[in-house]
Amino acid sequence: MKNSNIIVQKYGGTSVADPKRIKEVAKRVNSYRKKGQDIVVVVSALGKTTDKLVSLAGEVSKNPPERELDMLLSTGEQVSVALLAMALYELGQEAISFTGAQVGIITDSSHTKAKILDVNAKKIKDELKRGKIVIVAGFQGTSLDQEITTLGRGGSDMTAVALAKVLKAGMCEIFTDVKGVYTADPRIVPHARKLENISYDEMLEMASLGAQVMQARSMEVASKFNVPMKVRSSFSHEEGTVITKEAKDMEGVLVRGVTVNKTEAKVTVCDVLDKPGEASRLFEKLACAGINVDMIIQNVSKTKMTDISFTVEEKDLPKVQKIISKIVKEMSARGVRYDKKIAKISVVGIGMRSHSGVAAKMFSILAQEKINIKMISTSEIKISCVVSEKEADKAVRALHKAFGLSRKEKK
Ligand code: ASP
Ligand code: MG
Repeated sequence: MKNSNIIVQKYGGTSVADPKRIKEVAKRVNSYRKKGQDIVVVVSALGKTTDKLVSLAGEVSKNPPERELDMLLSTGEQVSVALLAMALYELGQEAISFTGAQVGIITDSSHTKAKILDVNAKKIKDELKRGKIVIVAGFQGTSLDQEITTLGRGGSDMTAVALAKVLKAGMCEIFTDVKGVYTADPRIVPHARKLENISYDEMLEMASLGAQVMQARSMEVASKFNVPMKVRSSFSHEEGTVITKEAKDMEGVLVRGVTVNKTEAKVTVCDVLDKPGEASRLFEKLACAGINVDMIIQNVSKTKMTDISFTVEEKDLPKVQKIISKIVKEMSARGVRYDKKIAKISVVGIGMRSHSGVAAKMFSILAQEKINIKMISTSEIKISCVVSEKEADKAVRALHKAFGLSRKEKK
């Protein structure tokens, strides 16, 4: 049973970028309180604080120990919670701020990307009973051996979802600087439309594919526990996008969004011997180094040789190059090519499950635009194509139009 009187609100960095914005947020929170709601607020660090702390660390160390990074990064959110509490007092409203550790957000010990194991919400519940607004630092927790941990970039979303789950909140509202979830990035597609609703699965795909409205991991948790959610802007009063279980009307639409991710690079190992064990040798080494591999393609071989291509995060490329330069010799491969100038374009929609031909349509739209496809991957509800980075925006616009997503057009 949800407790519809409890609402969890999360405010991202831009929403609390400076004292003026913090006062605005305090006003908004206060207005909900006045309606009689119990409110738990999760806040991110002010503006670009976390980025600044990361680069500060980089100035004293090439490879800062992750435990110390967590000590440093977790300070950002401690500043914003205290300031928001003060701003609420200024409005005559009692509030109390807490760090993640104080409210019992227990995580595993994997520093900089910890997973929440448990939340002991007693302290929060007690303070709500006293009539206070409870403000919790996002993005952080404490491990079983009392070490401070952080939940990965964008992790305040995770804090909000986890609290909404344990408190059985009636709603978890994610306040950000955009009005909701769009059919495409409005900076690329001016006609992009705000979606009224989106399913957890679609949101998870879109977040993982590069639509930066929500941390992808937090969507997995929201979906698993059916946490009712909304993404909306803290700069306006417009209704945002509701994230829910699948609804019937969502299935009628083939494609609900088009995303682009320019952060990956493509690696091709050329002329690998086509025999058992070669791929495993390569990908095992990458996995051991903690490198996430996204798309993988191996060509059919006519000559006992084959090429293996895959994509990784561009920031991991130096590590990947080091590993590969060693194995290339072991594998007796002829060489390796790297391409940073790629983009992954994806179309997402749960309606694809029950329709065929979406892939064919996507390929033909790209063909009409004379855009060459370098790699393809599919899942039940998405199709992704890697194209050259300079053609990415054109591809997104063409797909957005052809799949009938633009604002004024009808399908
Ligand atoms: N401040 C953290 C970050 O920038 C967490 C968050 O904002 O969600 O990643
Ligand atoms: Mg964020």
